[in-house]
Amino acid sequence: MLTTKINRVAARAAFYSIRAYSSLPLSVTINLPNGTSYEQPTGLFINNEFVIPKQKKTFEVLSPSTEEEITHVYEAREEDIDAAVDAAQTAFNSDWSHGEPAHRVAVLNKLADLIEANAETLAHIESLDNGKSLICSRGDVALSAQCIRSAAGWADKVDGSVVETGSSHFNYTRREPLGVCGQIIPWNFPLLMFAWKIAPALATGNTVVLKSAESTPLSALYMATLIKEAGIPAGVVNIVSGFGKIAGEAIATHQRIKKVAFTGSTATGRHIMKAAAESNLKKVTLELGGKSPNIVFNDADVSKAVQSLVLGIFYNTGEVCCAGSRIYVQEEVYDEVLAEFKKAAENIKIGNPFENDTFMGAQVSVAQMDKILKYVEIGKNQGATLVSGGERFGDKGYFIKPTIFGDVTDDMAIVKEEIFGPVVTISKFKTVDDAVTIANNSNYGLAAGVHTTDINKAISVSNRIRAGTIWVNTYNDFHQNVPFGGYGESGFGREMGAASLDNYTQVKAVRIALTKTN
Ligand code: ADP
Repeated sequence: MLTTKINRVAARAAFYSIRAYSSLPLSVTINLPNGTSYEQPTGLFINNEFVIPKQKKTFEVLSPSTEEEITHVYEAREEDIDAAVDAAQTAFNSDWSHGEPAHRVAVLNKLADLIEANAETLAHIESLDNGKSLICSRGDVALSAQCIRSAAGWADKVDGSVVETGSSHFNYTRREPLGVCGQIIPWNFPLLMFAWKIAPALATGNTVVLKSAESTPLSALYMATLIKEAGIPAGVVNIVSGFGKIAGEAIATHQRIKKVAFTGSTATGRHIMKAAAESNLKKVTLELGGKSPNIVFNDADVSKAVQSLVLGIFYNTGEVCCAGSRIYVQEEVYDEVLAEFKKAAENIKIGNPFENDTFMGAQVSVAQMDKILKYVEIGKNQGATLVSGGERFGDKGYFIKPTIFGDVTDDMAIVKEEIFGPVVTISKFKTVDDAVTIANNSNYGLAAGVHTTDINKAISVSNRIRAGTIWVNTYNDFHQNVPFGGYGESGFGREMGAASLDNYTQVKAVRIALTKTN
């Protein structure tokens, strides 16, 4: 990490204006750039009600594309996390977890319907709060609804099995929910990570205390209104806005929270795992950083591959944990790929996230923008060639031009460390073996891209790369039924699809001694 913990805390303190603001109403009207307005909740969502936290503190929410204040929201602290856990525990002891699964199927489907019915509002909230383009936000909304609908389909299919051990016993297994689950989400996909987290937890009958990221709390609070409208019982989903060091820490160390699911930086993930171990050994799943290779072979369809390279690094302004941030191109097509990729990057429309054809909006915060620009300086100082971009776009809003570095070596910081922005390195390789070796030359293992028209090469290279997801002739291409998660320091546990249910159930074995009957 470039920035030390201290720098990060200082940057945050400067970024957020925190104050006691007890007069903040529990809902404010926000006018959206499309001429509509909506009611934005500001309180903590506990027991299906918006409430004011005990200390009545609030913090400011900024629009990254205008640098202007959107609103304040209330901030949860330890005592509020306790209240949320109380509500979640009571809900866990109810029919929600132990009654007919058909109820969970119905309300999760209803929630997916409501997301679709409110799609444009949700997309605008996301672009306002995170700075991402509407193109990206609309994709997030669609995938969120699909993910919740897919989980609804699983909710009445969480079966155990019968284990045969001979006629003297009868054995069966059940997959039981864990209890109250803490969920801590990041700021790059606030709504989508909310959906990925709650969907498997609720499908399997758990209850949830979810903390949004401090820079992007708005869509989670709006989702709270839909959760209530969908008929999800009180206490099943509790949503708090707050800071990692306070509310996040309270979740990670809580004695009555049985599991914590986290998406964010590797440094924070490490800390959360330690906190879980030192408190009540709660179960942990982590979806962390990455430095994913995106490999183009000589036989690839170059123009299609270039589209994937663009999508791989510039989608969501590069604020994607699985971004294809290390591009490797086989010698014969290197010059052609680089020329086309540079042209495509320079044609990207960047700026106002609400204009329909904008592809790249703003980075999430000034701290994030500064961190990315620092990496650009390091890249130049270490001798990489800046092929394109490398600077701010405009002087209002946290926009950065798509940035490409060539002439890089594997030991450079920009090749090894996660930048989490629209900065990519590109270099050449000779053989298939070289490609596999450089792809695997990372402690991370979240994703990789392979571009080739040879099916044998596609499969053999995919099987040899150590990463949780391999995209062949595509990139950043998610499906709600396909599991996603990391190898190595990218974390463990899978989200989406059947595999995600394993993280939210535990197996109970029941062995019954039978009496012989005549
Ligand atoms: P970044 O540094 O880019 O903001 P983080 O991994 O720190 O990324 O943040 C992701 C999420 O983790 C956010 O919701 C944040 O509040 C939370 N978080 C940060 N620090 C902690 C912590 N010590 N304990 C629990 N959660 C934390």
